Amino acid sequence: MGLDIEANKELVEEILEAYPVKARKDRQKHFQVSTQEAIDCGTCAVKSNIKSRPGVMTPRGCAYAGSKGVVWGPIKDMVHISHGPVGCGQYSWGTRRNFANGTLGIDNFTAMQVTSDFQETDIVFGGDKKLEVIMREITEMFPLAKGISVQSECPVGLIGDDIEAVSKKMSKELDMPIVPVRCEGFRGVSQSLGHHIANDAIRDFVMGRAELAETGPYDVNIIGDYNIGGDAWASRILLEEMGLRIIAQWSGDGSLNELEVAHKAKLNLIHCHRSMNYMVDHMEKAYGIPWIEYNFFGPTKTYESLRAIAALFDETIQENCEKMIAKHKPVMDAIINKFKPRLENKKVMLMIGGLRSRHTIGAYEDLGMDIVASGYEFAHKDDYEKMLPMLNEGTIVMDDPTAYELEELTQRLGVDLVGSGVKEKYVYHKMGVPFRQMHSWDYSGPYHGFDGFKVFAKDMDMTVNSPVWNLVNKKEKIQPEGASI
Ligand code: SF4
Repeated sequence: MGLDIEANKELVEEILEAYPVKARKDRQKHFQVSTQEAIDCGTCAVKSNIKSRPGVMTPRGCAYAGSKGVVWGPIKDMVHISHGPVGCGQYSWGTRRNFANGTLGIDNFTAMQVTSDFQETDIVFGGDKKLEVIMREITEMFPLAKGISVQSECPVGLIGDDIEAVSKKMSKELDMPIVPVRCEGFRGVSQSLGHHIANDAIRDFVMGRAELAETGPYDVNIIGDYNIGGDAWASRILLEEMGLRIIAQWSGDGSLNELEVAHKAKLNLIHCHRSMNYMVDHMEKAYGIPWIEYNFFGPTKTYESLRAIAALFDETIQENCEKMIAKHKPVMDAIINKFKPRLENKKVMLMIGGLRSRHTIGAYEDLGMDIVASGYEFAHKDDYEKMLPMLNEGTIVMDDPTAYELEELTQRLGVDLVGSGVKEKYVYHKMGVPFRQMHSWDYSGPYHGFDGFKVFAKDMDMTVNSPVWNLVNKKEKIQPEGASI
């Protein structure tokens, strides 16, 4: 599908006219309309990974969200202390659907809020002593916890606390790994630096601390799959069916031991490159482990990825891979035949974090849907350069788009489906535009792998073709003149 490049460039300019001059000039740099030249060479002109403008309603979160919320929080057998005042831990409590096996509060601590709940005295006199007490309490209350992480909130770095010294001392006293993470929300410009800081903490405090009893030629790690709605499980069964052995899953349904033994793998399979590229780079340099980026959204990308992974192993794995694809393809074709006629040519706009704005494109295209605009909250230049070749000419690429920009684009482009987050969702419902949450899967999922595509196709159809949209539009039409909705 070709979009009108010039018309879309003008559209972006028109939308940005609402800003004061300085803000407009800044926001212009965060937009690009894809052209054949840019698609061919993947050249990205979009400014990314720089500070958000004040007062424009950015969709971004902070470094604490990137570290505790994304990377460390899913490690199920460690207790993660949200260190600071009560809010950050409370708002991130159980909201990210990183599923994990185990019994909550016994050997799984993922959906819990453990906080030092700073009071004024902690700000004035420091929170280090309190942190020691909390660590002792954790080992008494949760004897099956294998380790502790300290996830710093904003004040910790501002008042000069030494969480590294406390962690070192208490790690000896309690005889368990204790990981200090300097992910205060004022660091960096988004969740992204939180990922990097969290990766460095894995490297510095747990990497390579344990050994595997047995190693084999097919040992691999799944890196950067947070098991949202069971995604990593839906991916893992495919890799296992192909004959590979997963020795670590980072970090959805992951354990401390899986962080400690991952250096024994023969290959790193990385799904979310943005959040964990630092670790695969480190493991390549320090342990000689190669890595490959893969995409398990939609059958086309899943076939491509399985074949690319199999090509790095022997004929046994390659034969298994082809057998597996031959087995699943008729089922995937049947799903496409069922849903494509209901979704074909529908216009989709995506705005997600640092991966899915490009990784889910293939799954929509398998259903005949067209991406007309796509943007990230906190991606870097390399993410945009990977996204561009996946787009049609004329697609609007946007970085850190504001609430106003997204609403205007949706209306002016006549978008049929918006895929974004919970902050956006209800605005679009009120506008009468179908919306799917593409972070939480709208409490559905998994979306990864072959099992995931069955759920994905059903969810998109259920949303786009829901009769409710006719009722919303009808209500608008029957409003008496001058009445406001
Ligand atoms: S910016 Fe600071 S206060 Fe806000 S959520 Fe992040 S760590 Fe907490």
